[in-house]
Amino acid sequence: MSSAGPFVERFEGLVAEYTGSPYAVALINGTSALHLGLMVAGVASGDEVIVSNLTFIAPVHAIRYCNAHPVLMDADPDTWQIDVRKLGQFLNERCEVVEGACINQKSKRRIRAIVPVHILGSSCQMEQIVELAREYNLFVIEDAAEGLGVRYQKRHVGTWGDAGVYSFNGNKIATCGGGGILVTARSDWARRARHLITQARVDPVENTHDEVGYNYRLTNIHAALGLAQMEQLNEFVGKKRDNADAYDQALKDVDGLTLPPRARGVDSTFWLYTVLLPKTFGLARRQMVVRKLRQEGVEARPFWHPVHRQLPYRTCEAYRIECSDDLYTRGVCLPSSVGLSKVDLEYCVRIFKEAVE
Ligand SMILES: *Cc1c(COP(=O)(O)O)cnc(C)c1O
Repeated sequence: MSSAGPFVERFEGLVAEYTGSPYAVALINGTSALHLGLMVAGVASGDEVIVSNLTFIAPVHAIRYCNAHPVLMDADPDTWQIDVRKLGQFLNERCEVVEGACINQKSKRRIRAIVPVHILGSSCQMEQIVELAREYNLFVIEDAAEGLGVRYQKRHVGTWGDAGVYSFNGNKIATCGGGGILVTARSDWARRARHLITQARVDPVENTHDEVGYNYRLTNIHAALGLAQMEQLNEFVGKKRDNADAYDQALKDVDGLTLPPRARGVDSTFWLYTVLLPKTFGLARRQMVVRKLRQEGVEARPFWHPVHRQLPYRTCEAYRIECSDDLYTRGVCLPSSVGLSKVDLEYCVRIFKEAVE
């Protein structure tokens, strides 16, 4: 039995329609979709790619799969997403467009793309990012792995740039068990991605191949699961938003606590509800809070460890990293599952308040 089949096409069609993207290509996971997105954008050995510093690490790994070099960009203290002001300053101060290529003056390498990561079920400021990308001749590959269902100025995240990626991993808002989707408005990129993820096969009977390919195609079985999940997506989004509203209500009076940003123009899904502990809390106290929550059966976790502190990426260029560490130090992600009952949520709130006090 072949692992190809009709559900893959239907799944792709549904995601394309839902997000308003002309093309959608299904892959085995979000990480492989990021790898392919970068490849079809022409990111090659020795290039540089600007990426969010406060993120799950997958997009940074994907940049290295292309033998390109990540340039780490700080998080914004208000939105917690990539800092577009610093992004602009970096490009203005340090980079120059020479014969169409954006050159990093310090490294002398070509910057090929920006990978803004939409974290926590919210959105980066895409208008500014797309504008800077146009000015500096860069592609934008959006990591919207956590952003399915999120809209920025009424347009789905993942569809602002040249390509976007959604993940259907088990922990995401909709899941195939494992899966990813690459969306783009460029027919040539979609065609090339489809070719590369099926081993770059030219003739399926004779098995001829015209370049190095990958086995990254989503299986029919996983696509069937994804289809069923897509049918429930609006319900899942509604449930996540209800969770966030309930947490906001219950936590708004906790002294010094920062609730998740609700920026204008952003329709968040609150995929992962995250708060910042008071400024007086250091790392040790935050770790104590998370430990106490977990001891009491509340599956809390810290914000991601900033990329510039991760072993494989400590020597990467990192532009004025200031805010990522603070968010990492004070951030606590609370249980946000769509299956969370009112009673569960009230329990999480009670234990959280006790832990903070
Ligand atoms: C989950 C996630 C990914 C990777 O997706 P997988 O399907 O797990 O490979 C990439 N980027 C971000 C921001 C994620 O949260």
